[in-house]
Amino acid sequence: MKFRAATLGALAVAAWLLPYGLGSYSIHVVNIALIYALLAIGMGLAMGVSGQINLAQVAFFGVGAYTLAILTTDRGYGFWAAAVVAVLATVATGLFVGVPALRMQSHYLGIVTLGLALGFINWITNASVTGGADGISGIPLPTLPGIDLSSEYLYYYLELVVCALGLGFGLFVVRTSLGRRLRAMRDDSLAAGAMGAEIPLLRMTAFLLASLYGGLAGVLYAGLIRYVAPETFSIGNMFILLAMVIIGGRRSLVGCVVGAIGLTLVREWLSDFSTYAQLGYGVVVVLMVVFAPTGLAGIPSRAKEFVNRRRHGHGRRAEADDRARLRPFQPYEAVERPSSTAEPLLDIRSVTKDFRGLRALDDVSLTVAPGEIRGIVGPNGSGKTTLFNVISGFYRATSGQVRFAGRTTTTARPYTLSLLGVARTFQNLRLFGQLTVRENILVALDRTRTHTIWQYALWQPGVVRRERRLRRRAQELLERFGLADFAESAPGSLPYGIQRRIEIARAMAARPRLLLLDEPAAGLNGEEVGQLAGIVRSIRDSGTTVVLIEHNMGLVMSLCERVTVLSGGGVIAEGTPAEVVAAPEVIEAYLGDSALADVPRPQPVPAPAPAPAPAPEPPGGSPPPASPPSASKEASR
Ligand code: ADP
Ligand code: MG
Repeated sequence: MKFRAATLGALAVAAWLLPYGLGSYSIHVVNIALIYALLAIGMGLAMGVSGQINLAQVAFFGVGAYTLAILTTDRGYGFWAAAVVAVLATVATGLFVGVPALRMQSHYLGIVTLGLALGFINWITNASVTGGADGISGIPLPTLPGIDLSSEYLYYYLELVVCALGLGFGLFVVRTSLGRRLRAMRDDSLAAGAMGAEIPLLRMTAFLLASLYGGLAGVLYAGLIRYVAPETFSIGNMFILLAMVIIGGRRSLVGCVVGAIGLTLVREWLSDFSTYAQLGYGVVVVLMVVFAPTGLAGIPSRAKEFVNRRRHGHGRRAEADDRARLRPFQPYEAVERPSSTAEPLLDIRSVTKDFRGLRALDDVSLTVAPGEIRGIVGPNGSGKTTLFNVISGFYRATSGQVRFAGRTTTTARPYTLSLLGVARTFQNLRLFGQLTVRENILVALDRTRTHTIWQYALWQPGVVRRERRLRRRAQELLERFGLADFAESAPGSLPYGIQRRIEIARAMAARPRLLLLDEPAAGLNGEEVGQLAGIVRSIRDSGTTVVLIEHNMGLVMSLCERVTVLSGGGVIAEGTPAEVVAAPEVIEAYLGDSALADVPRPQPVPAPAPAPAPAPEPPGGSPPPASPPSASKEASR
């Protein structure tokens, strides 16, 4: 902490003293570099932090600069009034460019944003209001009382302050609630939606942030050069900007700044060889993408990892596993169970779900009473996961109705259902890979709606206070689930059983009324299955209703009061565990799946039986099938 403050202080002093050592041309280059740094921070927020490919950043830059130019030269606005309008206009453009992100992702989004940028460039080159290819000159100087900004030395300080504030604000966003959600969306937008993140609004927010920085950069540029022309906002410059962000490290805003300043300086040195320089940047970008995908900013942590691995050799894994022993779960406080005559919490009425000719769910009806632990079993491909996807809003039922807590939720979105009190885990684990365990929990704990991001602009103490509250609750939850020892680890580095437990903890962070567990015992060893049974019981006793898809019949029989059996998308039996395993339809269904070995004998099993085999750590993080026969197919979700 002290070290950091010292570094920061030294940097600030160096930045403050810098102009004293520079000639008039050098300071001009530095001023340009700072403008690129602002642009790069905006790119980093959209692309690196939020995962939204944005190739329209030069257009945002251009909208800011041109709006200011037109308003000051043509409409008689003062510089600062025009600057405010210019930034607002850029943000409006950003929201417009962000609209396609609601429908498409990855390279499609890249193509569309690039297309919009090209359209903009075309327009400024040809329209008369923008001065065509000649651009607009005669932009007035920004005025500050007592400071003559016609001196590039003094202009530097204006830029420095804006950049420092911009970087500080960006880092504040990244490290608190909004940024965590944006990063969760980048890692896994489906899981983030299931945790209550309003994905469409967050996507727009990513573009809003990118355009805000683009607009600021545009205003500063127009004030510095006092002349705007199309070539500044060319596609060539867009790619230089992209190179800055990739070389610096798109996930780190500081990396983006370093990349922007570094590449501007290099570009200046190489200005006599600009033809070859362009090629050179391309080569460097390719090399970075291949060998250092996290950019310069990622190199320290990669180096550290490398050294650690060399030092500890193979023993490290075992040591890590030993350190990573799960602490026991601390049960929730039990509440009184609701009477069994209460209105059902979940009511599924004749739900059918078709996938292009394949009927995954066929007229399924099912009610779950509050306080119940309901088991859902069935052969692979019988529609169990699809049923969860319909309940949690990932899929929309082709026909039929889903009611939750007395409301019709057939067409509700995942985040709406999450806010209403539905939480789930995933058959194939969907933890946020680039977030720490603690951050995974924090994302789910955070129940604030996206529209509260106005606080970031107007009332930052509100954000800080909320953050503190969330962190306290995250610590409690980590301790309850025995996860406090690896709160700062990346989930992917932890043993499989622990990852499963993190998923349950994350789902419980929302204090849901209904918890959907999709094969929570898959891949767990016998001891872990026993612990799981205890956890699920405690969750139910705390007032959360549980629906459990499971292949481990010992666990189902020991936990569930009622079991629903699906086969071929339809309900073929429902009743107590003992009743369903004796039902002829059920035996036949499993026989048809040639998984007779999976059919439990109709005697009650007292304690959770151990899983079929002690689970080795699964390759590539995908779970081994819970039951040896009929290897479980990777369900889509
Ligand atoms: P279970 O969880 O019981 O093993 P699923 O619900 O995953 O089964 O799948 C039921 C059927 O629906 C399977 O035949 C599967 O291939 C199909 N299915 C599930 N999701 C999709 C999807 N997104 N698109 C097409 N088919 C799907
Ligand atoms: Mg499934």
